Amino acid sequence: MEHIYDVIIIGGGPGGYTAALYTARAGLDVLLVEKLSAGGQMALTSQIDNYPGFEEGVDGFELAEKMQAGAERFGAKTEMAEVYSVELKEKIKKVETSEGTFYGKAVVISTGASPRELGLENEQSLVGRGVNYCAACDGMFFRGKKVAVVGGGNSAAADALLLSRICEKVTVIHRRDTLRATKIYHEPLMQAENVDFAWDSVATELVYEDGFKGVRLKNVKTEEESELPCDGIFISVGRKPVTDLLKGQVELDAAGYIIADESTRTNLPGVFAVGDVRTKVLRQVVTAVADGAMASHYIDEYLAELV
Ligand code: NAP
Repeated sequence: MEHIYDVIIIGGGPGGYTAALYTARAGLDVLLVEKLSAGGQMALTSQIDNYPGFEEGVDGFELAEKMQAGAERFGAKTEMAEVYSVELKEKIKKVETSEGTFYGKAVVISTGASPRELGLENEQSLVGRGVNYCAACDGMFFRGKKVAVVGGGNSAAADALLLSRICEKVTVIHRRDTLRATKIYHEPLMQAENVDFAWDSVATELVYEDGFKGVRLKNVKTEEESELPCDGIFISVGRKPVTDLLKGQVELDAAGYIIADESTRTNLPGVFAVGDVRTKVLRQVVTAVADGAMASHYIDEYLAELV
């Protein structure tokens, strides 16, 4: 007879580990499956200033480790494994992974979101050879060099600021003439002497000849084309939800996010969605952890009624 967990949580970001903490602390038998290491996108952020309780800010990796330890203190188990497929429609749900098949009465999806690509011809083949998606992870490889950052949101602004402290020069390429990023980023970016902007511009080609040479740009207003020589490019144009595994089972919106309201309940009984993977207005660590707590409340309710 296979072991049946009360709750299986897929993904160890802040939402997943909060769901694990709350459900384990409520006495449930909880397994969390994580592919790499705790924290998800949060673990890639070196300085988090908008998670309350840390007056000097906190390193995302460190916070992730604490969240994992906090959940494990109450008996939640972590399995380091890649999930290959899920069957979520039946009363007992099945999660197939690289480390075996697990069964659970309730499943929490907290798979988060991964960086969106620009879709340029050689973008994928140049990852790690000039093309990057994480300034906190790979910025140090470009110490003293020239880089470009694509995007105008909070992530691009934070990346550009971080890189300005490491690199000789940072050029922000944005398809419009104003940043989407919150005002708190505007002043430090405008004041940084080694940051400049290619406004109204899109990257059309990555130039690679015996090494990364730069990026071809097109001004979307004038149609003028130019080349920006640089040693690397950081693409920071938002994220896409990690929901491929769920297609045909859980209801997704047009962008691929799991349709679930504040209750975190999905269209399938016993299946909950927390964190960045869920339809929501604000994707932050605090909103992910709030989701984790909400999920535990509705999981309790669901399991109590399960016959
Ligand atoms: P985002 O807010 O969706 O911004 C994406 C940026 O990329 C936008 O400026 C967008 O341009 C641009 N873009 C999208 N597709 C593009 C394409 N194909 N080519 C060129 N440019 C493209 O994404 P994000 O910055 O990754 O942030 C995601 C979420 O995390 C947001 O809710 C954000 O507030 C949050 N976040 C918060 C913080 C913080 O509070 N400190 C830090 C990081 C992230 P347009 O502006 O023209 O649409």
